[in-house]
Amino acid sequence: MSTAYIHVEKASDMQTQWGSCSPKGQLTLNPHLVKAPRDCIDYVLLHELCHVAEHNHSEGFYRLMRQVMPQWEKVKERLDGMAYFYLNDV
Ligand SMILES: [Zn+2]
Repeated sequence: MSTAYIHVEKASDMQTQWGSCSPKGQLTLNPHLVKAPRDCIDYVLLHELCHVAEHNHSEGFYRLMRQVMPQWEKVKERLDGMAYFYLNDV
């Protein structure tokens, strides 16, 4: 089993996204994410963790995503709607 490394970046480095996953499987999360509702945080974590298995947004990636969080599209929509306020500290 491989290990996922998670680290939190300074907000200024990644204002436009919630998280990312490097080719080595290192996950980076936006610290502003802590202000988001729990299911939105879960969504970002699961999205990045799925990238450990599937490095792109392929059919396989979305299949995996649906397995771990069937309602992910609704959660993403909610998070996207709030993103501006969280990321810009309003
Ligand atoms: Zn992605």
